[in-house]
Amino acid sequence: MIEVKDLTKYYVKNKALDHVSFSLKEGEILGFLGPNGAGKSTTMNIITGYLSSDSGSVKIDGIDVLEDPKEAKKRIGYLPEQPPLYNDMTVQKYLEFMFKLKKVRLPMKEHLNTICEQVKISDVKGKIIKHLSKGYRQRVGLAQALLGDPPVLILDEPTVGLDPIQIVEIRKLIRDLGKQHTVILSSHLLSEVQAVCDKILIINHGKIVADELTSSITQTGSSTVSLELIIEGRRQTIHSMLQKVDGVIKVTDKGECERGCYEFRVDSRRDVRRLIFRAFAKSDFAILSMHPVEQSLEDIYLDIITGKTDTEEAS
Ligand code: ADP
Ligand code: MG
Repeated sequence: MIEVKDLTKYYVKNKALDHVSFSLKEGEILGFLGPNGAGKSTTMNIITGYLSSDSGSVKIDGIDVLEDPKEAKKRIGYLPEQPPLYNDMTVQKYLEFMFKLKKVRLPMKEHLNTICEQVKISDVKGKIIKHLSKGYRQRVGLAQALLGDPPVLILDEPTVGLDPIQIVEIRKLIRDLGKQHTVILSSHLLSEVQAVCDKILIINHGKIVADELTSSITQTGSSTVSLELIIEGRRQTIHSMLQKVDGVIKVTDKGECERGCYEFRVDSRRDVRRLIFRAFAKSDFAILSMHPVEQSLEDIYLDIITGKTDTEEAS
């Protein structure tokens, strides 16, 4: 449904995007995750045809955004970082205005009613936009994106600036919209992407650094394995025995958990469970428990963002 190939974009000398490629199937919700300045808005502005790229292409439903921007734009509903709201209009007047501006060819009254129901703003249609809460204004922005029934929705940081209750409501709304639309949502919050999306794409300094299903990033993103152990014996000796095991990178003493029993965390480059078992079997110390700890997506994201996989400096 969406095919992004090799996008590169310079702002004067500053390279904002560096060979960004990804694709998205119909009906998927993609989370576009990255810290501020990573290139999310730039990518979204190019996909929606509001900004040109220096190289690369974007196809929406097979239509090239550069070659046929009119047709491509018809298929996209866009909620930019700063939604284009006219603050002195009522919600109804604004949506009618945008409906005409977009030259939507559907029965206007019915269509607007359906959209307002969908994003739950029917009760504020008569209100002036500047008198609405930020949460409601964001819904009006979403309504504007839904005009003309586009199959693709591009939402740039849709929950920024909302309070926690509004955030929950907007996320639920996006998940519902995701049932009938192909959605790209950008966010600098991992929790948001995890809560809403099927697929996740991590961008940093203009480069895609991870492109996977949320679950497979957790499995393959980590090069280290971690174990948590409880061992009975002499604390210092246990510590140094663990450190001597081949492949162990780091041993963390997490303190006494029962009398004479200590908890340790062991980070290693490979599975060292058998080696640890054998080392302790020869001693008087007893391993009371040993289990692998999964690296959370949060850890992996931080690794990626703090430069473990990318050493380029942001400008
Ligand atoms: P994000 O949306 O992920 O926060 P952006 O796409 O807005 O990131 O920005 C990517 C990079 O491009 C940043 O380094 C930013 O400073 C730069 N940038 C964005 N817009 C402009 C612009 N209009 N002129 C110059 N530099 C820009
Ligand atoms: Mg942005």
